[in-house]
Amino acid sequence: MLASLADYHTHNLLCKHAEGWPTEYARHAADLGLGEIGMSDHSPMPGYFDNWRMLDEEFSTYLQSVEAARENHPQIPVRLGLEVDFFENGGDWIESLATRAPWDYLIGSVHYLGDWAVDDPSLVHRFRDQKVEVVWDRYWTLFRLAAKSGFFDIMAHPDLVKKFGHRPAGDLRRYYEPAVQAIVDAGVAIEINTAGLFKEVHEIYPAPEFLKLAAGAGVPLVISSDAHHPAEVARCFHEAVALARQCGFTHTVRFAQRQRHQVPLPLGE
Ligand code: ZN
Ligand code: FE
Ligand code: FE
Ligand code: ZN
Repeated sequence: MLASLADYHTHNLLCKHAEGWPTEYARHAADLGLGEIGMSDHSPMPGYFDNWRMLDEEFSTYLQSVEAARENHPQIPVRLGLEVDFFENGGDWIESLATRAPWDYLIGSVHYLGDWAVDDPSLVHRFRDQKVEVVWDRYWTLFRLAAKSGFFDIMAHPDLVKKFGHRPAGDLRRYYEPAVQAIVDAGVAIEINTAGLFKEVHEIYPAPEFLKLAAGAGVPLVISSDAHHPAEVARCFHEAVALARQCGFTHTVRFAQRQRHQVPLPLGE
C-alpha cells in the first residue's frame, strides 16, 4: 500500500532536535517501497530565533543534503520542501524564503503564538496561565491567517494546539468550520500528521471531525509522519489511510515544483 503514498513532512539533524541526514530518510523510504519522500525541515528565521531549526548559514547545506539524497536514491522521487513557521508580520521573510530554492512544496505551520511555541514541552505550563478557549482562539486565528496568506501548499498538523491534551469543552467544530473555510478559500491542502499518536494527546492531527468537514469540502490531502528519525518515515500510515477513508477522502495529492496532482488512496489490506 505504501507505493501509492508519499511522506512529505520529515526533518533532519540540521534542526537540532532530529536525527539523520536526508539521505537516510530517503533510504528508509526506498526500503519501505514508499511512492515518494519529501524533506521539509524547520525553516530558518530572521536572526537568532530559537534552537530547533537550521540557521540561515546552514540553508545551503540543507539544499545540498537533499540533492545528495536524490543522487544516492534514484529509485525514489525525493522532493524538496520546507516547514515554514507562520508568524504575524512575517510576510516579507516568508516571501523571500519562497524564492530561495526550487521548492516542490512549502508547508505552513503555526507553532508560535507571539513568543510562545505552543508545542514546546518546556513551556506547557503556560497553558495554566490562561483559559484554554483563549489559547485556542489565538491559535485558530493565526491558523486561518496562515492558510489564507497564499504562501503555502500544505497546512501542517492543523490542530497542533491539542498536543498536550488541552481542549475546550463542547463541540469543537466551532473552531474547525472557520478553519476549513479559510483552507477552501485559499485552495491549500492539509496533512494528516501521525506524530500526534506519540504525543500526550495520543491522537492523529487533525481530529476526525475536522477531517470530515475538510473531506466534505473537497480539501486536498497529504499523509505525513513528521519524522524526526529515519525509522519514523511513514509511521502509522495504515492508521492514517483508514482514518482518511472513514472521514470521506478518496485521494491524496502530490507536489512537484509547487504543482499538485491527485493519486487515489490505497484500498488497504
Ligand atoms: Zn521538529
Ligand atoms: Fe511542526
Ligand atoms: Fe515538522
Ligand atoms: Zn511538524
